Amino acid sequence: MSAQILDGKTVSEHLKDEIRARIAKHIANGQRAPHLVAVIVGNNGASETYVASKERNSKSVGMDSTVLRFPETMTEAELLAEIERLNSDLSIDGFIVQLPLPKHIDAQKVTFAIKPEKDVDGFHPYNTGLMLKGIDTLLPATPYGILLMLEYYKIETSGKNCVVIGRSDIVGKPMAALMSRNAYPGNCTVTMCHSKTNNLEFYTKNADILVVASGIPEMVKGDIIKPGAVVIDVGITRVDDASNPKGYSIKGDVHFESAAAVASYITPVPGGVGLMTIAGLLQNTLKAYETKK
Ligand code: NAD
Repeated sequence: MSAQILDGKTVSEHLKDEIRARIAKHIANGQRAPHLVAVIVGNNGASETYVASKERNSKSVGMDSTVLRFPETMTEAELLAEIERLNSDLSIDGFIVQLPLPKHIDAQKVTFAIKPEKDVDGFHPYNTGLMLKGIDTLLPATPYGILLMLEYYKIETSGKNCVVIGRSDIVGKPMAALMSRNAYPGNCTVTMCHSKTNNLEFYTKNADILVVASGIPEMVKGDIIKPGAVVIDVGITRVDDASNPKGYSIKGDVHFESAAAVASYITPVPGGVGLMTIAGLLQNTLKAYETKK
């Protein structure tokens, strides 16, 4: 392996120390702690893991954290009413509704119902619009976390070719927008690839910065990566693994060993972007709290 690891643990711990110090200062000044709420509907093992980690991390920086669990049978109207309650509760600074939702609930309706000032996942179209216009706002937590990581390692981005694989609303699209903005990290020449892209390797072989968010485990191997590229692996997939006591192991969208042999920097899975997403969420919650104040 020749690549340097972009270590999500180091960066997120550094950011959490900063957040913890800011919260301690607010509390010393007689303010209450920021309050983050996570809503989870139904029984999804991965969602439970993510929410448990969000709760643990928000508490570790001194935030109040509440998890609201509802049964799979919750109706869309009931969830929208719950969101209305969270929107108007002054003691709550931000909340997330963990995806995926049960099939009978329209996730888009839910996203639109969240008050933009409390939208700490950064999914509301109002926040998307501000982001596209380059106006300071709550950014989608995963792309935001990736920016924080690039910044921490002082990765040069200006003038670089950045290829983003994936065009989802929560990762690919905002990532491409942020990497092309006129700011640091950004100022890249961005290409967005997706499931209909022909000859993917034509693009990846020309990528100085490659962000992979396809949801296909180990799809990108070293032979289609430009030597010296910075490789950001967003993928998290549970793959059956009889050798693991849990019965599964977590795979990224990049084949780590072959990619690390040619890249200059690479994020591991786990221990990379997943931890940065939580750091992005905590930064957003602190921002929502401080803006309200
Ligand atoms: P998605 O399924 O919504 O989008 C996948 C995208 O990949 C699509 O836009 C599709 O066009 C593209 N794609 C599929 N096959 C392709 C191919 N062969 N070539 C090129 N593009 C292809 O997924 P998502 O929500 O963006 O998530 C992507 C991955 O990132 C998943 O593994 C998910 O679990 C993970 N994820 C991780 C975090 C984190 O915190 N690390 C956060 C969000 C998502």
